[in-house]
Amino acid sequence: MLSWIKNGLQSGLTAYITHSDCMLHNVGDMHPECPQRLVAIRDQLMASQIFDSLHEVEAPEVTDEQLARVHTPRYLEYLEMSQPLTGTFRVDPDTALMPNTLKAARRAAGGVVKAVDMVCQGQAPNAFCAIRPPGHHAESSKAMGFCYFNNVAVGIRHALAVHGLERAAVIDFDVHHGNGTEEIFRDDPQVMMASIFQHPFFPYSGDVPMGPNMVNIPMKAGSTGADFRDAVMDGWLPRLREFKPQILFISAGFDAHREDDMGMMGLVEADYEWVTRQLLKFADEYCEGRVVSVLEGGYDLSALGRSVTAHVRVLTDI
Ligand SMILES: [Zn+2]
Repeated sequence: MLSWIKNGLQSGLTAYITHSDCMLHNVGDMHPECPQRLVAIRDQLMASQIFDSLHEVEAPEVTDEQLARVHTPRYLEYLEMSQPLTGTFRVDPDTALMPNTLKAARRAAGGVVKAVDMVCQGQAPNAFCAIRPPGHHAESSKAMGFCYFNNVAVGIRHALAVHGLERAAVIDFDVHHGNGTEEIFRDDPQVMMASIFQHPFFPYSGDVPMGPNMVNIPMKAGSTGADFRDAVMDGWLPRLREFKPQILFISAGFDAHREDDMGMMGLVEADYEWVTRQLLKFADEYCEGRVVSVLEGGYDLSALGRSVTAHVRVLTDI
């Protein structure tokens, strides 16, 4: 095991960042955002032999300083105070704090920080964070939609604050609008966000962008892979080329897959493979290849495992 990890460091493999604590948050057997999601991903990566091409790294806990770049002190205190010792504290009908929720969430956000450090220090060409709970619905002072800390936002602010980068872009292809990420970076000249999302649909936002740095592309229920590819080519890429980010983040949600009942879009593995290729090509040209991909949604366990495998296969193929 140790020699395998050492080999990973030497050969600059794609980093696969995760932690067993991310399995501890469990809102109940019927809840779609379940620990088995990470098992399904790992299973498919192993079955397809991609796992051997990854450098697995344990996610550290995020620090208070790193969280404070994104979330208000009052909100962070509210989460700490509200987490129960036993039972459940409901934040909204779908989102609950359990005894280990923040332990998992600290690893999830810390994992993205670690990914940024590795990619910016040349220890990995790119990284995939297999973490949960997800983050893109979490606003600066609000938990919602299964999200507590906005993991990708914590990583972006860390890249800008610590690694001397001046511009970062985040791409969000989850079926739901990343309202939290948009709220956090609205009018931030250092950050551009480009997304697609089913609309009208939860969280019922995004149709009117919050600032000039937001490229929001609402898509109708029933949209296909061809519609998605048009949005990427005509909507995202020209704006990304104008903005010239130095690092590219991906809020990688896989719930726009046709088999995922959480949404009503028609993407398949080939679309995730294709978009990853487009984004890597862009990052090679503009970002010295720096890509940090962060798991968001994706709830049909089989489709999730297969889609992440399609995505990570492209990340490793460099
Ligand atoms: Zn989603």
